[in-house]
Amino acid sequence: MNLDRYHQILADLAPHHARLVAVSKTKPATDVQALYDLGQRIFGENKVQEMTSKYEALPQDIQWHLIGHLQSNKVKYIAPYVSMIHSVDSLSLLSEIDRQAAKHDRIIPCLLQIHISGEETKFGLTEEEVFALLNDPSFAQLKNIRIAGLMGMASNTDNEQKINTEFASLKKLFDKLREKYFSEQPSFCELSMGMSSDYHIALRHGATLVRVGSDIFGSR
Ligand SMILES: *Cc1c(COP(=O)(O)O)cnc(C)c1O
Repeated sequence: MNLDRYHQILADLAPHHARLVAVSKTKPATDVQALYDLGQRIFGENKVQEMTSKYEALPQDIQWHLIGHLQSNKVKYIAPYVSMIHSVDSLSLLSEIDRQAAKHDRIIPCLLQIHISGEETKFGLTEEEVFALLNDPSFAQLKNIRIAGLMGMASNTDNEQKINTEFASLKKLFDKLREKYFSEQPSFCELSMGMSSDYHIALRHGATLVRVGSDIFGSR
């Protein structure tokens, strides 16, 4: 663990009023506890089972954010406790989150994951697909989810200009959707973008949540 980096990241985020999702995937619960003891409360995981076992082992006021691809059949395991799901990429997944959240009398904040990278391997909705989702009559029926914003991952590249362009496009889409669909809903306010290698770029484009793992916890 690199606590100097942790404190530096917090200092980098502060002027932007952005919050850190400390990505603890593959790292032991003791690492999470150590950061918790310094005041960190938001942690990100990409696997349902790993997140659930950490949730059970660690303090109850941790806010667990699911940031990895989520299969519908696993939503039920996290619905009782998850704080935010960053990786919603279909209406059917959103409907299942709504169904499971209702069972626990909860409203689960969700981010729509947008495909911004041009890389084939990354999950996410295209701009066209996100409009189709929001225009679908069945979307309006979902009462136990709240769309809190967007999430995106830039290309894995050293080309800073390319990353700049991708984050700028996500911010532009965020503003467009906010105006068209969420102008009455101030809770549509989160832009989750930026990881260890590119969070400083994401901050310049209005990130409100950055998801940083290896920079803090070491390489995986
Ligand atoms: C692992 C992961 C991160 C953190 O990546 P680092 O490079 O370790 O900071 C961020 N977002 C998602 C979706 C991830 O899976």
